[in-house]
Amino acid sequence: MTATVGFIGLGQMGSRMAARLVGGDQELNVFDLDEHAVNRLITLGAVSQDSPRAIGDTCGIVLCSLPRPEVVERVLLAEGGLSDGHAVKTIVDLSTTGSKVTERVGAALAAKGIALVDAPVSGGVAAAEAGSLTFMIAGDPDARSQVAPVLASLGTHLFVIGDNPGLGQKMKLINNMLCAANAVTAFEALVAGVKCGLDAETMLDVINVSSGRSFISTDKVPQCVLPRTFPPRFATELLLKDMMLGVDEALAADAPLWMMTSALQFMSEAINEMDPADDYAGLIRYFERRAGVEFAPSKGQER
Ligand code: NAD
Repeated sequence: MTATVGFIGLGQMGSRMAARLVGGDQELNVFDLDEHAVNRLITLGAVSQDSPRAIGDTCGIVLCSLPRPEVVERVLLAEGGLSDGHAVKTIVDLSTTGSKVTERVGAALAAKGIALVDAPVSGGVAAAEAGSLTFMIAGDPDARSQVAPVLASLGTHLFVIGDNPGLGQKMKLINNMLCAANAVTAFEALVAGVKCGLDAETMLDVINVSSGRSFISTDKVPQCVLPRTFPPRFATELLLKDMMLGVDEALAADAPLWMMTSALQFMSEAINEMDPADDYAGLIRYFERRAGVEFAPSKGQER
C-alpha cells in the first residue's frame, strides 16, 4: 500500500470510478449516504467509513463525485466534516458544480491548508467503467501532480485547464451545454425523420457517417433509445442542472446566447412530463408523444 485514498459519492459515476481504484496501489476508503452503494464497494474490497469526517481523518487524498453544488459545498466544508479531518491534504472534486461554488470552496479549503483540485469528468458511465474518462483539471501544480497517478487510472484524456480551481468547471459546462443542446436537437430531428416516413436505423447509419453526427447519434441514441431500454446513466435533472449552471456562467461573462437558452427552456418544460431522475434519453418521448410516432427499429428488424 502506498497511500490511503478516500471516495465520497458512489452513484452512477462514483461507483464505477471507485471500483477501478479498489485493489490498486492504494487502500480505498468510501462513504455514501446510500448503504447499498457502499456495500457494493465493500464487496469489491473497499473499506467503509461512517462519515465524511472519518474519511478526512484517514485519507490524504479524497475524491468526491456528488450530485449538486450545494451538496459538494456541504460535504466539503461542514463543521466537523471532511475538511476538519486530520489526514486530508488534497480534495479532488469530480462533480459538476459551476465555477462560483468551486472558487468559494477552494478558498475556504486553502485557509485550512487543504488543496482543491477541480476535476470534472466527461464520457459517461461507459467511460467511467472502462477507465477512459476525460478530465478537465484546474488547481495548484503540486496538488495536480500529487493526484495525477490516481486520475490516470480513471481516464485517458487528462487536460490541464489552469492553476485556479473553477476553470475546469467552466470547461465542463461549455461541453455539457453543447451535449444537452445536441441531444434535444437530435431528438427533434430524428422524430421528425420518422414522421416523414424514414426508417430509424437507416437515419442513424446515414447521420453517423455524415455531418449531423455527434455523441448523441453515435452512442446515446443507438445504446439507449433505439432498443427502447432508456437505462439510467445520467439523470435528466442533473443535465438540466448543468444547462442552468452553464447558461448562468456564460451570461455572467456577457456571452450572447440564443440556442442554449432555447434548449434550456425546452428541457425545463419537458422534464415536467417525466421522472426527473430518469435518463435524459427519455426527453425524446416529449417529441414522440406530440408527433404520434416512436423512434424504434422497424418491425422484424430489431438489431
Ligand atoms: P448520482 O446521483 O448517480 O450519484 C450521486 C451519489 O452521491 C449518490 O450515490 C448519492 O447517494 C450520493 N450522495 C448524495 N448526497 C450525499 C452526501 N451528502 N454525502 C455522501 N454521499 C451523497 O450522480 P452521478 O450521475 O454519479 O453524477 C455525479 C456528478 O458527476 C454530478 O455532479 C454529475 O453532474 C456529474 N457527471 C455525471 C455524469 C453521468 O453520466 N452520470 C457524467 C459526467 C459528470
